Amino acid sequence: MNYTAPISAVIHPEKVNQIMEAINRAEKIVITTHRSPDGDALGSSLALYHFLKRKNKTVKVIVPNSFPYFLKWMPGAREVEVYEYNPSAAQHILSHADLIFSLDYNIPKRVGDMAPYLEQSPAKKILIDHHLLPGNIFDITVSHPEISSTAELMFRLFFQAGYYEELTKEEAECIYCGMMTDTGSFTFNSSDPEIFEIVSLLLRKGINKDTIYSQVFDNYSEERFRLLGFTLSQRMEVYPELHSALLYLSREDQAQFRFSKGDTEGFVNYPLSIKGIIFTTFIREDEDLIKLSFRSQKSFPCNEFAAGFFNGGGHLNASGGEFYGSFEESLRVFKEGLKQYEEKLKKAAREL
Ligand code: 5GP
Ligand code: MN
Repeated sequence: MNYTAPISAVIHPEKVNQIMEAINRAEKIVITTHRSPDGDALGSSLALYHFLKRKNKTVKVIVPNSFPYFLKWMPGAREVEVYEYNPSAAQHILSHADLIFSLDYNIPKRVGDMAPYLEQSPAKKILIDHHLLPGNIFDITVSHPEISSTAELMFRLFFQAGYYEELTKEEAECIYCGMMTDTGSFTFNSSDPEIFEIVSLLLRKGINKDTIYSQVFDNYSEERFRLLGFTLSQRMEVYPELHSALLYLSREDQAQFRFSKGDTEGFVNYPLSIKGIIFTTFIREDEDLIKLSFRSQKSFPCNEFAAGFFNGGGHLNASGGEFYGSFEESLRVFKEGLKQYEEKLKKAAREL
């Protein structure tokens, strides 16, 4: 079958060649992704993993810390190495690699404790990512913030290099999962018609998109579901005049619902369903830090808010950050920040 789908050459053709050459030359290849890997991080990593295995490379995917149970179904997920579980083994693999891919993150800081070993490795380094402001440690940088997922970039890389025909169902599943999760199941950041051209090409590989959806979103524990109910009814503050909402959970709250990793994934999005709300924040007290997630609509720059108050960043409408201090203090800093952004919040709300 010969498909002449209208997929444009988003990645510079010279870079596609350089990447394929680097792959051909390398024997030991490591794929890394950011802390708290999500569907896109794992989807893009595992798609590349299967592709490289087919090219007879020695490949390892190393993630900084564990990933949620609703991603464990992904083909190859069981082969993923978790840095935190065995740092010295992962350090060894990084230092002996010929080639390292950094997928779905822009700067080494986002791989946490693994960062110095990534930076010090003599391996050639390739970045493929869709966040703003890529770091400067990479030999080849493919950075496209206008593209909604790294998995889509991975598809484009394969497609542009002429490997669509040989792409397997497993690879297509991983790519689809990344595209689906980073676009809220194609509800945002997904108006580019080429996204659906790509989905169509993936479906032709025999993937079942309904099953993939179910595996990710209909796989929650009862506790997670009750925690969501508790959070929305007991731990939500809405500030209508600022078009904003806040969700927050202390460690104590989480313990009541036998919190497990990934249980709060997606919580931050819910308040955007309230009429007039354009900015939502979720603050979670973790073991060693306070983790914040932000989502916004229209022109409100939640990445600027994350960078300004919480040492974070991300995309215009989806960002995150961290806070080191008490939980109460993080709530205070957030509310103070909200007041400072009153004008921008009101401006963005007028765009609704
Ligand atoms: P989430 O809220 O799903 O954890 O993260 C949403 C987006 O925010 C991520 O895709 C990433 O771009 C960004 N992000 C999350 N946490 C951090 C962080 O601690 N630092 C930076 N710079 N970006 C983050
Ligand atoms: Mn992503």
